[in-house]
Order: sequence, then structure tokens, then C-alpha cells
Amino acid sequence: MDNCDLDKLSVNGAQLCPSFKPDITLYTATVPSSINSVKLDLLTSDSGASCKILFGDGSRTVNLSDGLNRIDIEVIAEDGTGKTYSIELTKLSASEASLRALAVEEHHQLHPVFSPDLYEYSCAVSFDCHVVTIQAQAPDHNMQVTVKEACSSGSVPLNVGDTLVTVQVTSPDGTNLQVYTITITREHIPFPVTFCDVKDQMMFECPVSLNAFYRPVSINQSDPKAIFSSPYIDMLTQRSKVHPFTECPLGDSWKVAETELDKRMSSALVNCFFAHRGCKSVLKLGEIGAHANDCPYKPPLALNTKDVTETNWYRKHFTSSSSWEIETKHSLQVGQRYFSHHS
Ligand SMILES: [Zn+2]
Repeated sequence: MDNCDLDKLSVNGAQLCPSFKPDITLYTATVPSSINSVKLDLLTSDSGASCKILFGDGSRTVNLSDGLNRIDIEVIAEDGTGKTYSIELTKLSASEASLRALAVEEHHQLHPVFSPDLYEYSCAVSFDCHVVTIQAQAPDHNMQVTVKEACSSGSVPLNVGDTLVTVQVTSPDGTNLQVYTITITREHIPFPVTFCDVKDQMMFECPVSLNAFYRPVSINQSDPKAIFSSPYIDMLTQRSKVHPFTECPLGDSWKVAETELDKRMSSALVNCFFAHRGCKSVLKLGEIGAHANDCPYKPPLALNTKDVTETNWYRKHFTSSSSWEIETKHSLQVGQRYFSHHS
């Protein structure tokens, strides 16, 4: 008699959020710009209850305007008890360009957390990660999404240091364009790098770290051009903003990212980090990290404690009873020396 619930509520061509439940009364949904009307499908729990659509002409076919359309559905039970369900239905404008979701696979964290109206992100990955996939979803399938650096397979190869990924979204009517960027930074390679070509070795060596450049930057208008790995030049200029070699003061925006150099260096050939242990592998610098993880010549990463604890030496000196003995002997010796000195 007093049942004013809906048993079913759906919008043809749109997904309600959250999913319909009789006790939830407010929903949101989004439809592409190309959809001008939607059909509501609803059913009251009690066949005696009546319902009324408080939108437009009150029919179940709802004509939508661009932007937010709030559709209220009033359900009246037989005894007059009432309840209102609402759907906030957004019809995207044909001139809108935005993303609904943006992610770097597999499961790399974006900073800040994605929000459709934030356009610049950063993301840190491990040194052995040389390729990622960008997942970019537009709210409207009529928007065109392009990941500029991606190959045909959709994956993006990464430089050894920073890689700037640009995701471009074009509105359905082609009048608007929105660009989202992600700077993906790989962790510093924890091994010294040896290039196969001596010329590469000279060209790609940081004059401070004496290792391959990491996130190379040059000093603006320096002649000859001075290039350093970012972390080292940052450290050197932390206290005084001068060129580390010539001691000339550095002006504003003195730091120039050497992205092209990073890219060239990433495809230069290097020896495996474990060449000294016998590995003959030669790979691009950008891909050597992944090889290093699986290299059969890789030394064991951590000392296995059993290599120590299962030796006779360890048993003799450090198992509980004998270690006590050592201590006892030691104090006895001290005592004897003490007494001999005074006798
Ligand atoms: Zn190797």
C-alpha cells in the first residue's frame, strides 16, 4: 500500500552511476553529443503505485539539451506516500574535448591523480621498464584520441631518462583540441654503462658522474655546450648558481632539457652490465635494464644467509652454547692478565 519504490530504472544508451538499487534515489549518466534523446525504462515495485516523469512533456522519451539535464521521477504509492528518483544526465557538447580516464600501464601511478581538468602529469617507473602503454579514454566515442609517441601497437618506447608523452583529444565537431601530457621518468640505472662505440662513450658521458648521462640538461647558451646529468648539475648549483667549470653566473631558465640527446643515447648500443662476468649481450641502452634483470651472468642480488650460517666456522663460533664459551674464555683471560699484573 505504501510502497513507492521503483523496481527497475534504466536509460537506453546510457549507464547509470551508481547501478540502480530501489533505495538509491540519485544517479548520474553521460551520453555522447550525437545522442539527442533517450528512452527511460522504469517499473514500480507495486503495480498499484503510479509514476510521473517531471521533465519535458512527461513522456518516457526524453529530449536532451547540451549539458546537464535533470530528470526527476516521482513515484506515488496507493496510500499517497511519495518518493522522487533523479537522474542527472549530461549530454556532451560536440565542441567538448576531454578525457574521462588516463593511465600508464601496467599500473604506474600518475601524479597528481587523474582528473579530466588537469592537463599535466608525471609518472615514475623502474630503470628496467622500457616500454609502457597509455590508456586514454574519452567520454564520447566521437572524440578523437591520439597518443603522439605510440607505435602502431599502442605502446610507447621510453628514453633512459625522461619521456614526454602527449595525448591529444579532438572534439567531435573538430573545433576544439585538448592536450594532456605525462612526463615519464625512469629510475637511474644502478650500474656503470659501457657503450660499444668509443665515440658514443665520449659523446654520452657526463663530465661530472663520468657515467652515461641521466636526464641530460645543458646550460643555456654555453659555448662549448656544457651538458650534465640533471641530478649532478642540480647538486653542484644548489648553493651557488654558477657554471661548475667556468664559474660564470647562470641566468634565469639556464637549464635546457636535452631530450633529443636522451633519445639518441637510448638507442645507442651498450654492453651488458655483466660483461666482466662473461655476458656477451649487446643491446640498446634503453633496453639493457630489462636484460640485466634476466641476465644469466647477473651476480646474486642479496647474500644468501645460509652461505654463512651453514658453515662450520659459523656453527663453531655463533651457535648459542659455543658463543657463550668464547665470552667466558675472554673474561677469564682478562682476569688472568689483571692478576698477573698485580702479583
Ligand atoms: Zn647480460
